[in-house]
Amino acid sequence: MKRGDFLKILATLPLLSHMELQSLHKFAATLSATDTMPLVFFGHGSPMNALEQNEFSSQWQQTGKSLPRPQAILCISAHWETKGTFVTTMKNPPTIHDFGGFPDALFQVQYPAPGSPELAHTTQEIITATEVFADEKWGLDHGTWSVLKHVYPNADIPVVQLSLDYTKGPEYHYALAKELSALRNKGVLIIGSGNMVHNLGRIDWQHPDTGYEWANEANETFKKWILDDNHQALIDYKKQGTPFLLSVPTPEHYLPLLYILGLKQKNERISFFNDKTVMGSLSMTSVKIEKI
Ligand code: ZN
Repeated sequence: MKRGDFLKILATLPLLSHMELQSLHKFAATLSATDTMPLVFFGHGSPMNALEQNEFSSQWQQTGKSLPRPQAILCISAHWETKGTFVTTMKNPPTIHDFGGFPDALFQVQYPAPGSPELAHTTQEIITATEVFADEKWGLDHGTWSVLKHVYPNADIPVVQLSLDYTKGPEYHYALAKELSALRNKGVLIIGSGNMVHNLGRIDWQHPDTGYEWANEANETFKKWILDDNHQALIDYKKQGTPFLLSVPTPEHYLPLLYILGLKQKNERISFFNDKTVMGSLSMTSVKIEKI
């Protein structure tokens, strides 16, 4: 790695201890420096999207083709909530079928992407706000594989998951995300997988292609705040009134978005895809952030 590149990465980090610097050097040796990788938040919706060829999965396939090929992927999925923060460290993460009531074909899906112990350990080391624990038991949950199966169908890019600490609030997650920023220049594609609007208790099976008024209002306002870089409003979603409380009744599907926004730098291009509310109370709206 060139000294200039290394200094550039250092400039984006808080002060590091000697040991942390050595670790970063070690990681630098395994993954080469790259241009700043894009960030993507995927609205994942139903696990059946993993099997179906539909408007959403088609767009995921297009997204995969449009991105520079990553050396590794770090995914923050709505479906891995823990007390404390964990990162998957295994070489071969199993495909987890963390749902019930779906056809057998969905339980047969495998996404055999390798893990990356190197990326996992570096993630542990560059995060200083909290201890990040090594996990050998999780793997890839459907928040990750239902999307990646379309984005990278060959499953040949190493994938690591970072868990969501359910004891912490939105501000904490937004700040924690910033500590991952150096990874963007090491070929690591950081993705969040959740849904901005996600209220399963209010699902309207009669209207698969439309959203309730409150869901549409929240979806439009979230997009406006994202475009305006009004991250504080997004962090404070609980203070924004009824449409937002209905749209985010529990935080886990929303928080992955805050990771992606926390990592956004100034003057990056924001675009939306799969911008649609479905089944009344879900939005598939997804966000791509990239250097201009
Ligand atoms: Zn989900």
